[in-house]
Amino acid sequence: MSKNLTKRAEDYSKWYNELVVKADLAENSGVRGCMVIKPYGYAIWEKMQAELDRMFKETGHSNAYFPLFVPKSMFEAEEKNAEGFAKECAIVTHYRLKNDETRPGKLMVDPNAKLEEELIVRPTSEAIIWSTYKNWVQSYRDLPLLINQWANVVRWEMRTRLFLRTAEFLWQEGHTAHATKAEAIEESEKMMQVYADFVENFMAIPVIKGLKTESERFAGAEETYCIEALMQDGKALQAGTSHFLGQNFAKAFDVKFASKEGKLEHVWGTSWGVSTRLMGALVMTHSDDNGLVLPPNLAPIQVVIVPIFKTEEQFEAIKALVDSLTTSLKQLNVTVKFDTRDTLSPGFKFNEWELKGVPVRIAIGPKDLENGTFEVARRDNLTKEVIPSEGAAAYISELLAKIQNDLFGKALSFRNEHITEVNSFEEFKEVLENKTGFISAHWDGTPETEEKIKDLTKATIRCIPLDRKLEEGTCIFSGGKSVGRVLFAKAY
Ligand code: AMP
Repeated sequence: MSKNLTKRAEDYSKWYNELVVKADLAENSGVRGCMVIKPYGYAIWEKMQAELDRMFKETGHSNAYFPLFVPKSMFEAEEKNAEGFAKECAIVTHYRLKNDETRPGKLMVDPNAKLEEELIVRPTSEAIIWSTYKNWVQSYRDLPLLINQWANVVRWEMRTRLFLRTAEFLWQEGHTAHATKAEAIEESEKMMQVYADFVENFMAIPVIKGLKTESERFAGAEETYCIEALMQDGKALQAGTSHFLGQNFAKAFDVKFASKEGKLEHVWGTSWGVSTRLMGALVMTHSDDNGLVLPPNLAPIQVVIVPIFKTEEQFEAIKALVDSLTTSLKQLNVTVKFDTRDTLSPGFKFNEWELKGVPVRIAIGPKDLENGTFEVARRDNLTKEVIPSEGAAAYISELLAKIQNDLFGKALSFRNEHITEVNSFEEFKEVLENKTGFISAHWDGTPETEEKIKDLTKATIRCIPLDRKLEEGTCIFSGGKSVGRVLFAKAY
């Protein structure tokens, strides 16, 4: 099987698009900006969902479901949020088609079926959810409300890219309501931490936790926490966001509660989300010129076993060994596939599983039968070794854990090597041209400077790192006072 994959160094963007399609993750559809997620890609997404869902529940959240459509007047209630999303909204105006008399066999919108009030296809669900919370919250005893929704949303993006930016995408959105400001802030920080733990431990992608600047903040939020990751081409990717909404939505939708002291007060809110964009982050962080590289925790198949044989007799002997290995691996919760397709050569299969990023490949041939060995190949660093079949299951289970760790370590070294401190705008531009990655620099804190730097270089402030050192400095652009460095980068 020939992969014919463009090399990353040649054209990173082309490599990415080809890989997503060739590895069977997703493909473009007949609908502008919308993708089809294929079974192999969806299996990875399901693993992400399962783990995140477990983490949300462990932190006290429950799932619920709210409508896809938001009446326009409801959408408008929180003005900043509405304004922020206005340019990306799909709107339903009619509810019926009819035969088009001038074009036989074709349909047209029935002008008599105009909706009294237009419906917005949700780009995010704060409006519909807060309009519901009004009925759910009366007293402090009803709080906190800790709800998550798994859903699709639509944002009419102009420039789309499989997984990273699509017009319709899948995500989860948490929406919580609290009695106090401190509790809501604590919740937004906690969920940012949940995202960071998930992305680092499960996806093996290191992230920087930080705050967005005012101009990058979610429309309608008081504060946006984010996790930022670095892709192999030196561009940053916003991997998840968690918003402290203040009382903005509570005021817009009149959500009040009677406190213990009997006082009527507006509740405090948060919302937080990660999307199928994480699939793009996964591909762009670990994969190589041979195809996908999956961290074992997210691989739908963790170990593939390829038999190499000439005679039926050999196959039967291999099969007996594989059956026993598979049983032991399953007991250790390892997902195994025995690739018995007899119309394809072992070489073809090796290529295919390499392209699909299966972390460990085991080959068993006549020599191994004689010697009581297996050949084990690691997808991440492409090394091979021969191991005794005795005790192989335990060895492989440990190897999977090691691969998971090594992938994180490799991505972390890359990320750390690509954070450059600069002290002048000249240096800043030089880094952007050559090394790229995150640039740590002093900024005067104004949206004007941020905007000018963006116009001149396309680099934006990815975040104000939460763990940054507070130190006096001079803004690299304006020369104004700065209280600490922020991270700039070109971003997806
Ligand atoms: P937001 O509601 O804007 O804070 O976004 C929530 C999450 O969805 C973030 O992790 C974003 O990175 C992600 N996201 C935003 N727009 C898109 C899009 N067009 N396609 C895929 N993911 C997106």
